Parts: sequence; structure tokens; C-alpha cells
Amino acid sequence: MTQETDYLIVGQGLAGTLMSYMLQEAGRNSLVIDAGIEHAASSVAAGIINPVTGRRYVKSWKIDTLLPFARKTYTALEELLSCKLVFEYPILRAIGSVKELNDWLLRSADPEYERYLMDEADPGAYTDKIHPAYAYGECSEGMRVDIATLIAAYRDYLSQASRLLPMAFDHSQLELTSTGVSYAGIRAKGIIFCEGYRAKDNPFFDFLPFHGDKGEVLLVRIPDANFDKLLKQQIFVVPMGGDLYWIGTTYFRNWTTLLPTEEGRAYLEQQLSGLLKIPFEILDHRAAVRPTVRDRRPFLGSSPDAPQVWLFNGLGTKGTSLAPYWAAHLCAHLLGGSPLDKEVDIARFAHLRNRTKGVKGNHTSDNFFLPG
Ligand SMILES: Cc1cc2nc3c(=O)[nH]c(=O)nc-3n(C[C@H](O)[C@H](O)[C@H](O)COP(=O)(O)OP(=O)(O)OC[C@H]3O[C@@H](n4cnc5c(N)ncnc54)[C@H](O)[C@@H]3O)c2cc1C
Repeated sequence: MTQETDYLIVGQGLAGTLMSYMLQEAGRNSLVIDAGIEHAASSVAAGIINPVTGRRYVKSWKIDTLLPFARKTYTALEELLSCKLVFEYPILRAIGSVKELNDWLLRSADPEYERYLMDEADPGAYTDKIHPAYAYGECSEGMRVDIATLIAAYRDYLSQASRLLPMAFDHSQLELTSTGVSYAGIRAKGIIFCEGYRAKDNPFFDFLPFHGDKGEVLLVRIPDANFDKLLKQQIFVVPMGGDLYWIGTTYFRNWTTLLPTEEGRAYLEQQLSGLLKIPFEILDHRAAVRPTVRDRRPFLGSSPDAPQVWLFNGLGTKGTSLAPYWAAHLCAHLLGGSPLDKEVDIARFAHLRNRTKGVKGNHTSDNFFLPG
């Protein structure tokens, strides 16, 4: 029997979950195909949103827009799924030298940073339990979103509505039709690929410069620590409730196994031992690959070969803040024809496809727009 839906979505990590949710909010159906691949990035991530990042303490790209949108979306999802997802935390940031402290103070004096950088840092429960850095800065508006709970709860939600196919997608079985696509007896107006770093093997988008940077994390118990803030001191210490903490992360550009490695574990364990004055116990060690992109901007758009085949990917290291806003942006483009922001439109890499396939001319997503 043939089944109909508005859109097929492949992958139910952060990207696929938010895409399905935004389509639903816009009154459209979707059916999600997910293989439940163990250790997808979304299930290993801490879900941190850190508004001011890097050695130069710069605001994350578009954070003034992304952060309130993310907060609003995840709060609405808490209500829909009846579970707690959003945990607001200040972020304590270790400062290693006089120069870094001067840089921090300069930023703090900038009115653009006023809402994010606090006048004084208070290490609170960390005092006496860690080897102190030269100084600390404190960032307000930090957040942890419980991504693992979100993905699991949304999966149940889809499953109960018979909108989840828990299976691996087989590209060779996809048929492009005059009205959209057909796959395993399901007809849809279009298909949206949200496969995380595995999209590098997607035949429609294999010209795009996916990187795929592996990260490893530890889940540890630190008895009676009562840490109530996120701490960034070489590594991130993230409270997960009770005595449980997420410790991360490594950043491997060149990797040969998807599994956690001895090297990754040793690095994290060494960093944590050097930081803490109190004992800890390692409960778990996990690894996943971030869907990173050369220019650090998401991938949105349709395939140059098939206007009904879409991509939502490239969430990189910051999926938690990026996914809600850009899923809504792609949804508005898909359904209403509003233009894609050029910074995220995959058309910016059209020259790479032209090079591999010998095609001449310009591809912009508008050329391939198919109304929803
Ligand atoms: C160690 C680590 C720590 C991180 N920490 C943070 C953080 O603190 N804050 C933050 O914002 N970001 C963080 N990130 C980044 C974040 O995890 C990603 O940006 C985001 O999760 C990517 O989501 P995604 O849906 O694109 O990909 P994924 O999470 O990889 O999801 C892809 C989904 O597609 C499915 N799939 C793939 N191929 C197929 C197929 N052929 N058939 C069916 N299903 C398929 C998989 O089962 C999976 O469910 C971290 C990443 C890592 C690795």
C-alpha cells in the first residue's frame, strides 16, 4: 500500500528533529527515517550554548538572534514532549595570563558584550575543589540543552504517531518522480537529508566540503562536588544532575576509527586529574563525529541534480544554537519561497560541483526551488 506524506526526512539527530518540528509547526507532515546509529553527534554532545567563544572572546556568529530563538524553541519542545530540556547556567572561563585578562576586560567594556560578560566572576562551588587558573571571567546566558533526552523523546513522539521508520536509508531505492519522490512505498513532495557527517557519502551532495571532526568525551561521577556552573578550563566541565558530569572534549581532524580511543581517554583523564583536587570516577567514554564544514557555516539548499532533494547539515560544533533557527529558515524557504541566506546556501559551493561534473553556469537554490 502506498503511503503519502509532505516530506521525508532522513536522520533524526538535532537537524532532523528540528526540521520535522518546524514543518509540523507550519502545518506540514513529515515521516522520519533513522537508523538509530549509535554515537551520533547529537547523542554524545553536551548541548552547550556558549555565547562568547575562542581565545579572543568573540561573540558566536549571529548569537544575538540564535540564542533567543533556540531558547524559545527548546522551551516549546519541553511542553510538547513533557520533559525538561533547558538548563540555564553561567559559564566560568579560566583566564591564563595578564594578556588574556586584559583582552577579557576590554571585551567586558564593549556595550555589545554587556549582556553576556559579567563584571565579576564567582567560582562558587569550584573554589577549593579545583587548582585555580590565573583569573576567571564569567559569562551569563550560557545554556545546556539536554539533547539526548530531546532526541529520545521526539523519537517516541514520532513513533507513537507512526511517523518514524527505524531503518537505514538506502539511496539506491530512492525514486525521483514528477511530483516529488517515492521511497519504500512512501510518496512525498520532497526529501530532506539530515544525516550528520554521514552525508559526505550522499550522492546528491558529495561535492560539498564536509570535514567531520571527531570528538571524545567522558561521563564522570564527582561525589559531593555540587558544581552549579559550566567551567571551561582547558576542558569543559558540565553538570548533568546529581554527581554526574560531562567532560569534554577532544578535537581530532584525522581519525581512523569511530570508536573511543585510548589516546582520547588519556588526554581527558589527564586534564581532569590536573584540574580537580577531589576524586572522580569514570563511568563512560564516548566518541562521535561533528558534521563540520570548511567555512563553518551550515549547509542548506536543494540538490543541483534534483529540486525535490534537500539538505540540512553542517551544524558543526554548535548544533544546539544553530539547529532551531536554521531549520525554521529552511522551512520558510521550502514552503513560502523566502530566499535562503547566502551564508548558508549550498550554492556557495556550486563551483566545486561544476569542477567535478564539468557543468557550466550558476546554481542558486532559487533556481531549484520547488514550492511545498
Ligand atoms: C563530542 C561532541 C561534543 C559536542 N558538543 C556540543 C555542544 O556542547 N554544543 C553544541 O552545540 N554542539 C556540540 N556538538 C556538535 C553537535 O553534536 C552537532 O552539531 C549536532 O548534533 C549535529 O546534528 P545532526 O543531526 O546534523 O547529526 P547527527 O547527530 O550525527 O545525526 C544524524 C542522524 O542521522 C542518522 N543517519 C545517518 N545516516 C543515515 C542513514 N543512511 N539512514 C538512516 N539514518 C541515518 C543517524 O542515525 C543520526 O540519528 C558536539 C559534537 C561532538 C561530537
